[in-house]
Amino acid sequence: MKRWIRIFIISVFAIAAVSLVVIQFYQTRRTFSINDNMFNVGVGNAMDEVIRQLGGNALQPSETPSETFNYQELDSLIVEQLLVNGIDIHPVVGLYNGTERSFLYSSDPQHEQQLEESPYRYSFHPAGVVSTSQFFIILSFPSAQLFLQRNSNLFVYLSFFLVVIIAAMFIISLRAMANQRKLDQMKSEFINNMTHEIKTPLATIGLACEMLRDETISQDSESRKNFIGIINDENQRMRVLVETILQSAKMSNKNFRINPKEVDIHQIIDKVSTSFKLPISNRNGKLTIDLQADPSVVVADELHITNLVYNLIDNGIKYSSEAPDITVSTRIVEGQLELRVSDHGIGISKDDQKHVFEKFYRVSTGNVHNVKGFGIGLNYVAQVVKLHHGHIALESELGQGSTFIVTLPL
Ligand code: ADP
Repeated sequence: MKRWIRIFIISVFAIAAVSLVVIQFYQTRRTFSINDNMFNVGVGNAMDEVIRQLGGNALQPSETPSETFNYQELDSLIVEQLLVNGIDIHPVVGLYNGTERSFLYSSDPQHEQQLEESPYRYSFHPAGVVSTSQFFIILSFPSAQLFLQRNSNLFVYLSFFLVVIIAAMFIISLRAMANQRKLDQMKSEFINNMTHEIKTPLATIGLACEMLRDETISQDSESRKNFIGIINDENQRMRVLVETILQSAKMSNKNFRINPKEVDIHQIIDKVSTSFKLPISNRNGKLTIDLQADPSVVVADELHITNLVYNLIDNGIKYSSEAPDITVSTRIVEGQLELRVSDHGIGISKDDQKHVFEKFYRVSTGNVHNVKGFGIGLNYVAQVVKLHHGHIALESELGQGSTFIVTLPL
């Protein structure tokens, strides 16, 4: 998808989503305010009826209400009338003497302060009483219940829920688009790297063949051996490269099966390390082999285990900026075969350690860019370990080196 089309779609979607949220916000506020009014009207109607019914119990200005009526009745009358008006909340009720600023009665003395501040205040002026009443019935509603009662509108919750879904979908789509872009970038990077990685050994082989054609060189057995060695190494390098790419692609298929048989890990290590002797000595490096595991035979797929060992040693060499110093060791730990490949190379930061086993992931800082690769080697290694019901761990310190620990069941 072209960049401008992507930006256009994201902008239109963002504007539409934001507008929808704003409209919904105002709509919800309007609904809240209508609900608020309806609630207040309901309480007002209920209290009109309460005061009308209390008319028979009329207070005389000289009397105090405590002598004339039963407060429990006042409470239940209010609750009953509130219910009739669709309000299912039990309020705190108070009877207030406005002149003396004191409560004659409150259903919950702890809430008198709230009662005094409550806007639900009704002049208690029953019909038939001539004087101006000093008394008020005051109601106070518990705030949480009040909120629910006012806003118990399914429509409000539903629209709020829909807005959340739209926002979530928007974020998911943006992430999917970003992932798609990243994948496209990784794909083109992968093709560039692959072209480079294959071209280089081909050029080296071509050059070595050219040299061997020269009779003066081909007759010198030492030089001939040297060039044949170069051809062999580059050939092996390309073989593993192509193998890793092919096997990694194959492994993505759910039906992929390994071909296990009894193999001696030590023999595999010996074979692989031989092919690294020349490249390591060319860089004045050192490869230490310390094989302690006994027994060293596991049931495994020889091809994949060979590629696994090759990839780990190859990485150790690739990611050593100085002369490579690689150690490959095996031992038996808790009835399992443990293979360790350590180097004293550039190391991997804690953050990157979490990602290096992901497909196409490459550490993209410092001089690592100078090292060519595809970011599939470690992913392939991890898949091979998983298919063998083993375990892989990484211990690494930036600038100090890395150790890959593969554990395989015997
Ligand atoms: P690549 O083809 O890039 O080497 P890998 O999957 O083998 O791909 O490795 C992924 C990344 O992990 C590499 O790009 C590199 O940054 C880092 N890495 C792998 N092995 C080592 C190591 N031994 N030392 C330091 N970094 C390593």
